[in-house]
Order: sequence, then structure tokens, then C-alpha cells
Amino acid sequence: MWRALFLWIALALAFATRAPAQSFPAYSDVYIDDFAGLLTEAEKTAIRARLVDLYDKTGIEAVVVTMRTMRQYGHDGQIEPFATALFNAWGVGDAARDDGVMVLVAKDDRQMRIELGSGYPAAMDAEMQRIIDHFMLPAFRLNRFGPGISAGVEDLVRVLEVNAGVGKPFTLWERAQRWFQTASAAVLTMLTAAGVAALSGSLRLFQILRRRRPRFCPVDGTRMDLMDEAADDSRLQPGQTIEERLGSVDYDVWHCAACQHVTIESYRRWFSGYGACRSCNYRTLQGTTTIVVEATTSSTGLKRINYQCHNCGDNWVESRIIAELSSSDSSGSGRSSFGGGRSSGGGASGRW
Ligand SMILES: [Zn+2]
Ligand SMILES: [Zn+2]
Repeated sequence: MWRALFLWIALALAFATRAPAQSFPAYSDVYIDDFAGLLTEAEKTAIRARLVDLYDKTGIEAVVVTMRTMRQYGHDGQIEPFATALFNAWGVGDAARDDGVMVLVAKDDRQMRIELGSGYPAAMDAEMQRIIDHFMLPAFRLNRFGPGISAGVEDLVRVLEVNAGVGKPFTLWERAQRWFQTASAAVLTMLTAAGVAALSGSLRLFQILRRRRPRFCPVDGTRMDLMDEAADDSRLQPGQTIEERLGSVDYDVWHCAACQHVTIESYRRWFSGYGACRSCNYRTLQGTTTIVVEATTSSTGLKRINYQCHNCGDNWVESRIIAELSSSDSSGSGRSSFGGGRSSGGGASGRW
């Protein structure tokens, strides 16, 4: 019995010490921290106006946070524990009422959460789920982050105001609409996912069919054959072979058995991460960016890009100015810190 307990404690300690160090970003604004740059200036202005208005009417602190990935802050996995920890690290909401709200979107992790302070009843979780499923995820699936976040915040503010007793109560029609949204959200989610999958699948099939369609020799009209990847390397320039290896351009070599005529077709791959080299012109150029000086709201930053060509070996360094961060105090009550509220893990999540 004791041995088992000790073993368990030793194991728990071993795992605890092995866990990666978690850090949290510092907030620069109590309404919007768009670390991933998903929102336009106009969207930010509109969202901030709603959240300032909510605070002025109810004292509720609600903040929108976007980030590329939670891995930047040493977290790998589900968004729930990370959202609770970030919420508590920042102390969102009034410390006595625990009525803070955090909308967190981790774009590249394809996860989001609306984290509620511990002052909200459990029934609010379903409302948050409805907002996520109905307004946010369908937009996120189409890469429309700004509109999805804006629509979600709009409805969220309305719900919070009604809950706090300052908004006009929902009419019968609105209640029917919300019930329908809850019921249809799951169906909508399924249909959208299936639709997107079917569409991208058929596009891909079309591309493959088009690429494999028969070719006829321009010299004698014989039907040509497509050489396999190993054999086509002998027909490509060394630079083209490197592009294929890096995955930036894909080549098809068509061959005429009658006259030995060869046609080379190239298919550029988008978002391969390689650019065109200034010296050899092949898409074998890799750029590595280092932030030298971070931009702040009062000064510009500086980044350095190291370019390296994997074909000709050319390499050079360029420096670029990073624009000053836009000042966040354009409107509102000029509040600059959170009230010290806590969350015990309430809220809802979504994945897309
Ligand atoms: Zn031919
Ligand atoms: Zn080069």
C-alpha cells in the first residue's frame, strides 16, 4: 500500500519535472490581443467598441486573444488547460464576482475556447457552445477569422448583457432562433465539414485528371508516355532536380517513343516555403527570419532575413523594419489591467 503510494508520487514528480516550461504572453490590451494578426483595423475597432460598452454597462471584462499556436508558449495539446491557465495568469474579470470572459483562438492548432470566470452558472457553457458552433467555427473553416470572431463577439456580448440584466430580455422570436441555432449547430457543423471535404476532394481529382490527360508529340503526333520520377531526373537540369527534392516545383517529363522528343511540364507548389533565387532563378531559396528588435507601440522593430540558395549556394542577408504596433487606447475607458478574476475551467471549446 505505502510502496504503491510512493511509487505513484515518484512517477508523478518525474512527469511533473519533465513537463515543458509553460510561459504566457503579456497582454498589451485588455480588450483585444491579436497576436496572430487575424483581425483588420476596422474589425478591431468594432469589437473593442462592443467590449468597452459591455464593460461600461456591466463591469464585465471580456477579452479576445488570438495566437498562431500554443506551442509558442510551451503548450502542446488540448486548449482547455491552456485557456484556464492563461485566464488565471492574466486574472481576467472582477476579483469578487469572477465574471471575466476570454475568447481564445489558436489558429494553427485549429482550436478555440470561450473561457468563463468561475462566477458563471454551468448553464452558460451551453450558450458559449452555441456561439462557437453557430457563429465561429463555420467561418473559421473557410479561413474567415475576422468575420467569425466579430459575429461570435456580437452574440456573446448580447448574451452577457441579458444575463447581467442590463440588455433587453430576449423576445420569443429570439428565443426560438437561439433554440434553432443550438439544434442546428451540430448539423451545420457536420454538413460544412462534409461539404468542404467533398469540394477539395473533387478539385484535387480534377487537377490529377488534367495533369494525366494524354499528350501527343508536337513533331509526329504520336501519343507520348509519362516518364517515371527516377527516369525523368536524367532529363532535368540539376536545379530542377533540387526543386523537386525540396518540393517547391514538381516536374513531369513526357517522352515520344517514335522520335525521342521530350516535353517538360512544371507544376509549382504553393506555400512550399521556397522562393526564387536572385542568381540562378530556381525556386530553391530559403529565408530564415530573426527578430532583432521587437516592435512596440512607441517604436519600430527590426528583423533580419538570412537567404540561402540550395542550388547555387548564393547567400545574403536583408534587414527589414517592423511597423510600430498600433496603439490600443483609441477608444474606451482607458482601462489598462484586469481585475484579478479566476476561472475554474468553465466555458466551451471548438475545433475545426
Ligand atoms: Zn515524336
Ligand atoms: Zn541560386
